[in-house]
Amino acid sequence: MQLFTHRFGGVLAVAAVMLIAAGCATSTDASTVSPGDVPITAAPAPLPSITEPPVPVTTSEPPATHGPSETPGPLPLAGRVIVIDPGHNGRNAQHLEETTKLVDIGNGTKPCNSTGTASAGGFSEAELNWQVALRTREALAALGANVVLTRLDNDGWGPCITERAAVGNRVEADAAVSIHADGGPADGRGFHVIHPAFVPGLTDDIAAPSLQLARSLRASMAETAMPVADYIAVDGFSERSDLGGLNLSDIPAVFLEMGNMKNAEDAALLADAGFQQEVAAAIARALSTFLER
Ligand code: ZN
Repeated sequence: MQLFTHRFGGVLAVAAVMLIAAGCATSTDASTVSPGDVPITAAPAPLPSITEPPVPVTTSEPPATHGPSETPGPLPLAGRVIVIDPGHNGRNAQHLEETTKLVDIGNGTKPCNSTGTASAGGFSEAELNWQVALRTREALAALGANVVLTRLDNDGWGPCITERAAVGNRVEADAAVSIHADGGPADGRGFHVIHPAFVPGLTDDIAAPSLQLARSLRASMAETAMPVADYIAVDGFSERSDLGGLNLSDIPAVFLEMGNMKNAEDAALLADAGFQQEVAAAIARALSTFLER
């Protein structure tokens, strides 16, 4: 079990680190549990004291298999560390003073965080992102990955975009995927993938591999029920130099905009558990393909 401590918004917190792969090199206590003995869902860690902020779930779990006969070879993402960044947070709107504070993104400033969009029916992007992140964590864990989430629940604010990028750098993750949905024109449909522009001194080290990851993700998302965006991006790709989460990342990183929440058809899909599961599987496939190299 490992804890990665970090600071965001002046609050000491601990990143939720799911060490899931049995035999994972970074897991120090995986040998004390045997596959099948530990539930798939994480159990909350005890709070150190009532005066400290909540401590996230941290656990070590075996892959979701039921015996050696079902695991003929190493899992495709065994030993890999993946950061999943669910965009926004459920209570950002109640913490505008903190979330609107400007932070340095390397080539300018941006608000610490934002509230995100919502469907006409009131389904918030923050909640959607969180649900898909949980499903993605499970899909990646089944492939043997160690998954780190940048926020612990959908009931707080932040962290700032600077901290979201720092999480991946600090744990030296193999890749990071930020999960979002767009608030576009009501008649526009579809998903798109955002990858970092080549910015000397900022993203020169990650632009090329991030584009490869974006291509993998665009390809796997095209196998879902969501069409490629028809109102934004070019054939599902958008290159950006104004996103702190990408500018400040030292590991390959992309943003997925799963669909347009302001479009009725997209919103219905995005709210559907089956589709959310498709997206999670698509993200996991994309990361497997990208990291297979
Ligand atoms: Zn968003």
